[in-house]
Amino acid sequence: MTLLDVRELSVLLPARSGQAVPVVEGVSFEVRSGSVTGLIGESGSGKTMTAMAVLGLLPEEASCSGELWWAGEDMLAATPARRRAVRGHEISMIFQDPLAALNPSQTIGRQVSEILRRGGASRSEALASAQALLERVGVPDPGRRARQYPHQLSGGLRQRAMIALALAGEPRLLLADEPTTALDVTVQSRVLRLLARLREESGLAMLFVSHDLRVIAHVADEVVVMYAGRVAESGPAREVFRAPHHPYTRALLASVPSVRAKSVPAEPLPGTPANPFDRPPGCPFHPRCPIARQVCTQERPEVRSLTTGRRTACHFAKEGS
Ligand code: SF4
Repeated sequence: MTLLDVRELSVLLPARSGQAVPVVEGVSFEVRSGSVTGLIGESGSGKTMTAMAVLGLLPEEASCSGELWWAGEDMLAATPARRRAVRGHEISMIFQDPLAALNPSQTIGRQVSEILRRGGASRSEALASAQALLERVGVPDPGRRARQYPHQLSGGLRQRAMIALALAGEPRLLLADEPTTALDVTVQSRVLRLLARLREESGLAMLFVSHDLRVIAHVADEVVVMYAGRVAESGPAREVFRAPHHPYTRALLASVPSVRAKSVPAEPLPGTPANPFDRPPGCPFHPRCPIARQVCTQERPEVRSLTTGRRTACHFAKEGS
């Protein structure tokens, strides 16, 4: 079942000149119940702005068009109160910095149990459930940890506490924006294993935003590769990583040593990401593309389907390339 259906979503922000510029343009994807969709791209690719549009947390000066359906409900037509109700109950968020999400002046147990109490639990029931939830997300000695404040926990434990907080409202979708970027590799892989387990146990769907291809390869069923605010390529993660159709996806993959054969050295991505406020004409990737031709500098490639479930925006993408 499709939980989140994003169709031709665009987000415009005013440039210094005052002109509205699309920083996200024509982006479409779905998140199905129990599955993980990964949004990947370099900084400025529009992935975080897309996630903010899904949450209804765009900056005041932004305008948004297209369609955003949540469980069959038109979110762009919903009232601010309804969007707030969906956000935080049906959709929860975890971010890179747990300190920004956790209240520094309340113990972890209190923060989690307050959410549980909204469901009608008594104070003692909610505290017991909060401790059980902390244990479920792998916080050792949850009784003691529940009495601690965020600054008293390590980075990995804070991340787990934030995940417990996000799960307390029993959301159907977890939106994770670079949730493991600030963690060291060992803690990162523990948190990723935890998220995979939670998904298996509770059928939680996730929209996972990351610049890190290895992380997305680890968690995602479907992947959306973004470049300069647009979709470069999308499809089942395994197929996209095995046989990318778009030169940008190929370059991203080539830049990551661990997702290639060990004998092949990593190749850094050439050039710098396109600035969405100053996109080159034609294909925005053409200044960095190794196979760009004349047409690429003049005509923007539309997103098209090459094979079932896969879409690519490249004049020269071919099936199996
Ligand atoms: Fe490269 Fe041209 Fe394809 Fe853009 S359209 S990715 S420049 S080949």
